Amino acid sequence: MSFENLKLIEPILKALKHEGYTNPTPIQEQSIPIILERKDLLGCAQTGTGKTAAFAIPILQILYQEKVQNRDHKGIKTLILTPTRELAIQIDESFAAYGKHTGLKHLVIFGGVSQHHQVEALKRGVDILVATPGRLLDLVQQKFVHLESLKILVLDEADRMLDMGFVNDVKKIIAKIPVKRQTLFFSATMPKEIQTLADTILNKPEKVEV
Ligand code: AMP
Repeated sequence: MSFENLKLIEPILKALKHEGYTNPTPIQEQSIPIILERKDLLGCAQTGTGKTAAFAIPILQILYQEKVQNRDHKGIKTLILTPTRELAIQIDESFAAYGKHTGLKHLVIFGGVSQHHQVEALKRGVDILVATPGRLLDLVQQKFVHLESLKILVLDEADRMLDMGFVNDVKKIIAKIPVKRQTLFFSATMPKEIQTLADTILNKPEKVEV
């Protein structure tokens, strides 16, 4: 299996080549077609499996195609929620790398630093927002972030977000997102609590396990 077989478009294939990626990992091989078909996904995968690219690559392709066909709209189109600042930065760097020929705008926001630069960047316009839940909710409540135009929501490391006590923040954020959306839910473990959360926010998800 190659990335070409996954029907990826040239701007993305070129970036993957530049990264030195020759073949998709198992989670990528399974997830990319499901996401490109615009289905919800429940993925059970650890860090290190290539799961970031498994969602970043098809999201970039969907948004790029909407942009070039003028089917896009103003505002944030994709939100990735992740538990820690380190993970948020890594995910944002992945979008930068795989999306460097797409012209899509991405931004990372997290707590523990002044919000000033984050607010200024938000004002310049963002297609893909990567965020930790606490800071995001804060900026939503101050009306610096508007989630009404969101089309794709990703919950990354959902089990860790729960362990870190973010469940209420996550639920409050999801309540602001249109119900008509595509949702991708990743967790390394699937205890009952996570399964229940997944059941409430996913719509007929395809399951992927690696
Ligand atoms: P992740 O599981 O998303 O944290 O990714 C783990 C590491 O694998 C990252 O350093 C990626 O750059 C790398 N990686 C992801 N997909 C591929 C691939 N298809 N080929 C080679 N390396 C990859």
